[in-house]
Amino acid sequence: MSVSSYRGRFAPSPSGPLHFGSLIAAVGSYLQARSQGGRWLVRIEDLDPPREVPGAADDILRTLEAYGLQWDETVVYQSQRHDRYQSVLDDFYRRGLTYHCQCSRARIQTLGGFYDGHCRSLELPAERSSVRLRMNDPVSGFDDQRLGHIQVPAALAEEDFILKRRDGLFAYNLAVVIDDADSGITEVVRGADLIEPTVRQIALYRLLGAAEPGWLHLPLALQSNGLKLSKQNHAPALSGEAISPTLCQALAFLGQHPPPEMVGESPQVVLDWACAHWQPEKIPMQAQIQPI
Ligand code: GLU
Ligand code: ZN
Repeated sequence: MSVSSYRGRFAPSPSGPLHFGSLIAAVGSYLQARSQGGRWLVRIEDLDPPREVPGAADDILRTLEAYGLQWDETVVYQSQRHDRYQSVLDDFYRRGLTYHCQCSRARIQTLGGFYDGHCRSLELPAERSSVRLRMNDPVSGFDDQRLGHIQVPAALAEEDFILKRRDGLFAYNLAVVIDDADSGITEVVRGADLIEPTVRQIALYRLLGAAEPGWLHLPLALQSNGLKLSKQNHAPALSGEAISPTLCQALAFLGQHPPPEMVGESPQVVLDWACAHWQPEKIPMQAQIQPI
């Protein structure tokens, strides 16, 4: 293992405690970074106050520590970066890359869910408007390390998507790209639920003139009913007990095969083993959670 310029990250939203699904993203991104001698950063995506649970950010950080997932550098909080996001939006506006839109959600629903550019040339004021990107150069696909080339539907690629909502909240796609670019992230490792927005994010990298990272989307942990294991679906929080067995379960989900005695070792020993034996090419196309 040599020191490299690899920089990865884990970017949880503090809408609840860490659950098994988010642990997969944390462990996968951690091992991908550490096995290459790279850095692993943590960013709290507290962009949407109504969806935040008080104390969740600290809880997530304490859980990562308990699992031995120690990050480098200072934790970035998106709530502290609004000036930066706004300055990028101001720059885009000056470059003629954005416009204001006052269309209702109901109107866009009637269009089938994708926006039709209705307000592009209306020169609407900023007040009571969302900010949309003029998607002049759509990106229709990208290469994923696990899944190969991914092509998305044209309607998705070509949409003038929202960069700032009418209620003043910055959009996830804007914030995530500015933050990953500013942090010098060289590869994004995250759950497959974020495959579709990737093409929008690549379009933003190009407009920012920032280097596009590599992409690795991990299989999603599904509940027995087929729903994604997520905070919205009330996935159970990781408990403070059975940490090493849960880590081994996460490794098995990612196609790695820790020897059975690892469940009795400390989280650090499990992670050190996983780092030394990490084989990203073994990550399955579809994965199932095996009972501990
Ligand atoms: N904050 C996002 C989430 O928790 C992840 C963003 C990303 O990894 O790009 O789902
Ligand atoms: Zn509009």
